[in-house]
Amino acid sequence: MQETFRPLASPDKRVELFAIGNELLVGQVLDTNTHWLIRSLTALGAHVRRAHILRDEYDEIADGVGAAIRRAPRLILTTGGLGPTDDDLTFRAIARMLDLPLVEDPIALDMVRRRYEYLASIRPNFSAELNEARRKMALFPQGGQPLANPSGAAPGLALDINSQTTLVCLPGVPAEMKDIFNTSLQPVLERTIGAGSYIEHTLVLDRGDESRIAALLQQIQAAHPTVYVKSRGQTLEDGAHLTVVLSHAGSDPRFIHQELTATEQEAIHALSSLGYAVLRVIES
Ligand code: ATP
Repeated sequence: MQETFRPLASPDKRVELFAIGNELLVGQVLDTNTHWLIRSLTALGAHVRRAHILRDEYDEIADGVGAAIRRAPRLILTTGGLGPTDDDLTFRAIARMLDLPLVEDPIALDMVRRRYEYLASIRPNFSAELNEARRKMALFPQGGQPLANPSGAAPGLALDINSQTTLVCLPGVPAEMKDIFNTSLQPVLERTIGAGSYIEHTLVLDRGDESRIAALLQQIQAAHPTVYVKSRGQTLEDGAHLTVVLSHAGSDPRFIHQELTATEQEAIHALSSLGYAVLRVIES
């Protein structure tokens, strides 16, 4: 069915994601950052094309992110590897790959300093001294813009690779990653992805058997190519149901609403001709 789905999002809204961390690739930590970012970026109308998990290694980061740069998406977003320890090497790997010097960024250093001063003010016997490991978090690939981290020490990074692609690096700690995304990253998201919306209408059917409705959904998909039509078995609070999810991303919420409503009405009508009733429609 996917071959007839053509999202409205322009190529300029293409995004690639990288979760970086050895702990993710031995199963110690579940990569929840990627799922959260996919949902949040999709809600902005972005078109997430790929998501990858990489080890904290120079060559792995250079290979993975380098290949993404050659595909020229509008935004590449990494999480992880920004902390003070030596194995956190995302900035160093990016700088080496792009042949950029690493420079101590005064704004980033001030962010790190203020974070440790704050921690020293609330924790007894906690030193605010900026030792080498702490200063490392302010070593940025030249030209990078620091992103304030409201809940941690490591600032994020935004770096325009060229006129097409912006690279953003965020910390791995989920709360810090989300806080930066929702605050200091917003201006970067506005100028790269722009404002947008994503809406889902979930039709809950009264019976199962996906195979019986496959051809019908294919016809509906062909008639409404900008709406993504997907059937799914789903467990809701009152038991197992077959659901049909209609979703649409774009910059004009009115257009999205019209398209989804038209598709929904057509789907309800067509499904009833096969003997299926739509018990309810969940909008989100
Ligand atoms: P810091 O070292 O300052 O904590 P960092 O940016 O270096 O931050 P990591 O060291 O890579 O981040 O990860 C810190 C913690 O965040 C990990 O131990 C893990 O618990 C969690 N984490 C990292 N990446 C992810 C991810 N993709 N999904 C969920 N949790 C993650």
